[in-house]
Amino acid sequence: MVLARAGSTYRVHVDGREITATLRGKLKHKDDDRVVVGDVVELDLESPDSGAITGITPRKSVLERRAAGQGASRAQPIAANVDQVLVVVSARDPEPTPRMIDRFLIIAEANHLPAFVVVNKAELDRDAGPALATRYQAAGYPVLFTSVKAVEGLEELERALRGRETVLAGQSGVGKSSLLNAIEPGLKLRIGAISEKWRTGKHTTTAAELIPLKAGGYVVDTPGMREVGAWGIEPADLASCFPEFRSFLGQCRFDNCRHLTEPSCAVRRGAEEGAFPADRLVSYERLYEELNVPSWSSGRRRGS
Ligand code: GDP
Ligand code: ZN
Repeated sequence: MVLARAGSTYRVHVDGREITATLRGKLKHKDDDRVVVGDVVELDLESPDSGAITGITPRKSVLERRAAGQGASRAQPIAANVDQVLVVVSARDPEPTPRMIDRFLIIAEANHLPAFVVVNKAELDRDAGPALATRYQAAGYPVLFTSVKAVEGLEELERALRGRETVLAGQSGVGKSSLLNAIEPGLKLRIGAISEKWRTGKHTTTAAELIPLKAGGYVVDTPGMREVGAWGIEPADLASCFPEFRSFLGQCRFDNCRHLTEPSCAVRRGAEEGAFPADRLVSYERLYEELNVPSWSSGRRRGS
């Protein structure tokens, strides 16, 4: 399993240890993204800690970005064989931001990956939970409550991660590192550090890294989950990234309904009738607007 890449060198997890490897043969001449983090590869061991990658096992999934606009968009794979996306929020400090949570969930949906939500720091605000649970369970996302401080929900989280490859997403400060350390002491994440750089707008790396869990499975540590615009989601496809909207799609008066201001929109009616929390429609509107701006200006638009 490929854990990380630095230039033309890959770190590969094999039999519970890590070795470095380079590409061999025709793999070397294929395009740059031929081997990505999460790929299960065939190896020729040259020494106990080095080898050559000679083949790739077919991927069961791939998390990929697509540069929007610019005519033919090229897919940029971030990680292969991802099983699920975990979005971590905190009940308080920082306050949960539905817009940001929805943003991560959209990326999961656009990549056809199942997602679930963890509300950490549950002991800080017992009232924050139910509203979040309603919001996301209505969309079909499992919601788990955890507290590193009060030691709650950690076994469930451990079980949810065990044996799977999980992309970890969440705002800085919600407790991602703390949760992973509670599950496996010593586990190191880079997410926090990188999202700091994101905030100052200096850093644009998309490099992901896989962190092996002792109990089996991997956590995908990746920056750059925040910029929905960078994932190449077409505005017209956005509504289907909201699972609770899906049963209403196709029932609007207009075939090309954007579910914004059109009359007789089935999605809007669904929200009005309480079929799902109306605030999810607010997220939809914001994201729609964001995806609709030309790509050249998207770098300047970092809406909440
Ligand atoms: P990350 O940026 O998402 O990786 O967040 P960290 O793991 O660095 O945690 C940010 C802060 O929240 C640290 O000061 C942690 O000690 C604190 N923290 C993490 N989990 C909990 C929790 O369950 N309850 C409380 N009260 N604080 C927590
Ligand atoms: Zn509509």
